Amino acid sequence: MADIQNENKMEKIVSLCKRRGFVFPGSEIYGGFVGAYDYGPYGVELARNIKTVWWEAMVNEEKNIVGLDSAIVTHPKVWEASGHVNGFSDPLVTCNACGASSRADHLLEGIEVFADEKMTLEEINTLFDAHRNELHCPNCNEVNFGNVSQFNLLAQTNLGNFSEDWTKEPTYLRGETAQGIFINFKNVLDSSRVKVPFGIAQIGKAFRNEISARQYIFRKREFEQMEMQMFVKPEDDMEMYEAWREKRWQYYLDLGFSPENLKWHEHENLVFYAKAAWDIEYKFPFGFKELEGVHARGDYDLTQHQNFSGVSMEYLDPVTNEKYIPHVVETAVGVDRTFLAAMTEFYDEDELGGEMRVVMRFPKKLAPVKVAVFPLLKNKPQLVAKAEEVFAILSKHMRAEFDDNGNVGKRYRRQDEIGTPACVTIDFETLGEEKPELKDTVTVRDRDTGEQKRVAITELVGYLK
Ligand SMILES: [Zn+2]
Repeated sequence: MADIQNENKMEKIVSLCKRRGFVFPGSEIYGGFVGAYDYGPYGVELARNIKTVWWEAMVNEEKNIVGLDSAIVTHPKVWEASGHVNGFSDPLVTCNACGASSRADHLLEGIEVFADEKMTLEEINTLFDAHRNELHCPNCNEVNFGNVSQFNLLAQTNLGNFSEDWTKEPTYLRGETAQGIFINFKNVLDSSRVKVPFGIAQIGKAFRNEISARQYIFRKREFEQMEMQMFVKPEDDMEMYEAWREKRWQYYLDLGFSPENLKWHEHENLVFYAKAAWDIEYKFPFGFKELEGVHARGDYDLTQHQNFSGVSMEYLDPVTNEKYIPHVVETAVGVDRTFLAAMTEFYDEDELGGEMRVVMRFPKKLAPVKVAVFPLLKNKPQLVAKAEEVFAILSKHMRAEFDDNGNVGKRYRRQDEIGTPACVTIDFETLGEEKPELKDTVTVRDRDTGEQKRVAITELVGYLK
């Protein structure tokens, strides 16, 4: 693949995403809304494929994992128990000149000073003060910040609360999907035939009041998570942890990511209850950043919910009659981050037939459109009718697109840009007008090599799958 300069690459990806309907800025006609993006016609297909691939690997192919779709809004106690109400915050500074908010740790990071996320407010203020003369506001460039304060990331809502001063008793848009899993641990246990060790997987939206949403869809305020919590016997958790680290690494290789764009990063300071925390980082155009977290969380979450709800979270081992609160091994990755990683990984430019082109080399599983169907000419009714017939056959098996606009070369370029693995053209030979032996065969053109083959219509579905 071509080696495309990184800064340049981010601009190219953002522009392709807008131009070809993968990602639109949120509320664009109203001047935009920071931290929100909308997925367009091809983006929604890519995001759906990302979720399907994850669900297949995490639920379908695992004997001991079941799925869940819990509500976004929960009893507010859930977030007190989880520690989010008191401890889920980022260090905020406000510019005295223009009033813009920034994250203190991000400003420090910009001058190569690293603030630990577990630092106390006092510690981070001391560090910030030592460097405040070097720190410019990203909005107005002035050097004039106030003090650092802790800003809670949970977004509040008055859903179901009709009092005027609802902010006194708010509930929250979930900050992560994991808590929905913990609060349903007992329900799943009692209603399905799962036995420890077993896992619960969930895909869903989560919300964080990010102070500085940035890096495109990497850090959004409304985002979608794919999380799996595995409940294990306390003494087995590290073995399970290592097994999941291996599986999750392999998952990205199977998806077609190159190993040199992935690396492990160990958390330097663990939260007090965690036993191990490693992230899989991906080489985004702006550098290696977290893609997925694999964490051993001990029995913290279930114990907290037991204490706050008064409901026992103990598991009774049916064989040994032992009672214990299971430990949790979790894997957590964002749909949006996987989306951006896939756009980065599979973006390519090359020369084909003497012409430069942009080509998204998505694996078939991720490609938004699996096949495009073209009548060679738009104004020949027999070709169009036959192409519509072929489209009707293929579209029952895979996402197909019909295109009769412009010449075939242009249609190829358009499909290359969105990563369609194959294009099928219905031509005069398909009609059998000159060579009867080619009747009911079509030209199939390969995205990556540009090679063309004749394939019988009756064999197309199998050939393309
Ligand atoms: Zn400013």
